[in-house]
Amino acid sequence: MMTAKGKSILKGIAIGKIRFLAKKQAEIKENAADSAAELKRFQDAKALATEQLQALYDKAAVEAGEEHAAIFEIHMMMLDDDDYNEAITDLIQSEGKTAEFAVKTTGEQFAETFASMDDEYMKARAADVRDISGRVVNILTGTDTGPAESDEPFIIVAEDLAPSETVQLDKSKLLGFVTRLGSTNSHTAILARNMNIPALIGTEISEDWNGRMAIIDGYNSCIYIDPTEELLKTLDEKRVRDLEQRAMLQQLKGQPNVTLDGREINLYANIGNVSDVGMVLENDAGGIGLFRSEFIYLHSATFPTEDEQFAIYKKVAEMMGGKKVIIRTLDIGADKQADYFNLPKEENPALGYRAIRICLMQHDIFKTQLRAILRAAAFGKVSIMFPMIISVSEVRQAKEILEACRKELIAEGKEVGEVEIGIMIETPAAVMVADELAEEVEFFSIGTNDLTQYTLAIDRQNPKLDPFYDSHHPAVLRLIEMTVQAGHRHNCWVGICGELGADPTLTETFLRMGLDELSVNPGGILGLRKIIRELNLGAASTPEATPAVTSSAKEDNQPKKKFSLFGKGKK
Ligand code: PEP
Ligand code: MG
Repeated sequence: MMTAKGKSILKGIAIGKIRFLAKKQAEIKENAADSAAELKRFQDAKALATEQLQALYDKAAVEAGEEHAAIFEIHMMMLDDDDYNEAITDLIQSEGKTAEFAVKTTGEQFAETFASMDDEYMKARAADVRDISGRVVNILTGTDTGPAESDEPFIIVAEDLAPSETVQLDKSKLLGFVTRLGSTNSHTAILARNMNIPALIGTEISEDWNGRMAIIDGYNSCIYIDPTEELLKTLDEKRVRDLEQRAMLQQLKGQPNVTLDGREINLYANIGNVSDVGMVLENDAGGIGLFRSEFIYLHSATFPTEDEQFAIYKKVAEMMGGKKVIIRTLDIGADKQADYFNLPKEENPALGYRAIRICLMQHDIFKTQLRAILRAAAFGKVSIMFPMIISVSEVRQAKEILEACRKELIAEGKEVGEVEIGIMIETPAAVMVADELAEEVEFFSIGTNDLTQYTLAIDRQNPKLDPFYDSHHPAVLRLIEMTVQAGHRHNCWVGICGELGADPTLTETFLRMGLDELSVNPGGILGLRKIIRELNLGAASTPEATPAVTSSAKEDNQPKKKFSLFGKGKK
């Protein structure tokens, strides 16, 4: 038996035979005798590749949603890119190279340029340019890289999984996957989370593994090749227990998130794409507590238009059928970069030009999104929240721009809906002025990922600092409690949408603090519901400051608004 370590994308056990996705190496001749004929071969292969990509786009749009399909649109655009085509044509015409040699060489050069960029999103594009070049080379050389059909379920092991390869995989047979490359931002990782299957990235893989028995242990972030009978038995038992646990949790669907002594809390889900909504509904979430709208921008090759965004938000609102959908406005910057924003390179990007700061400086971008959200709000129960807030003036400005958008849309005769307005509490500054902020909005959603980063002065992107990144630090927990208390003093409901909300060891603490909502990944909902339903907080559990929280008469289990004499108004 051998063991290889990696980075786990999803906790779970997968047991099965490995299918190694080898890139078959075609014989590539370098020099050609007839350049005109080579050019024609390239153009024909490119046309066929475009046809294939269009077919993949159509398949992915149906199976995984338009956001996932968008990557094939990007591939088609890359394939049509002038610089890319000129480089290939030049090698064929001026240097007498074969079409496949020219495409392979150009693809490698472009991939290296992408890979050397600092920006994680652009780095990930290296895989895309290799993918499209590989497709054209395969057409030119008649080589098939696609996985063979198989009746048996399998674990995929690959150097990297290009989006076009993942879409072609038979998902009903896919047990899990392991790659050497890839980042937690990659489409591969996103797919694993969406499909709820164990996956490892950053693993030293070997082609020799092909066809061998293996276990992915997502709990211990490793893969065992040719596991011993004993380990197989132990981990298979664990896998079966996971399945039984999941099946048992299904019985909690439709049940309230209420403790034995009657304290109720909302359990919502976090999403990044329309395609995640299926999981949200399947896991019976009460709503969507965080729609990371920046993923729409990250999957796009250029600024998504108002209509494109409207279509996405409307679809999510409609799919949720009247349940709350909280759309977080663009939280781009820092680790989330899209080339077309042309953001300056910064010394401290996490402390830099990001999120609401960009929106308040670039109104055109902000207004496009706000208009799309307001229009979508006519089709469901939509809330809006602003990220990375540090001051009251930012909230006021954002609300003014929102109001201006509403007026414009009405003047244009467009239908708009009412939106509840909230902010994310992600900075210690926001906690310190939470009383004032609470006067401006209807809810707070605590982003514990960033709140931990900014409170402890620890870069959340730096793996070396993982041992110091402690979201259980008393400073973080006290800031959460202060936020709840300040919010409730001003009739603001308070939730958590950072990763800490899903931490079962803190569920009781959060209930005792009086949190009104926890928003977690869809797969975490039913597990938390179980914990909540087994808790007994005792009579003293009801937070003094939030008498309305336990009211069963109230919709959504959130504090009632108090009558405000001066209407100092949250709107
Ligand atoms: C957070 O910071 O906790 C949060 C939910 O936002 P993100 O992880 O997208 O920065
Ligand atoms: Mg954040």
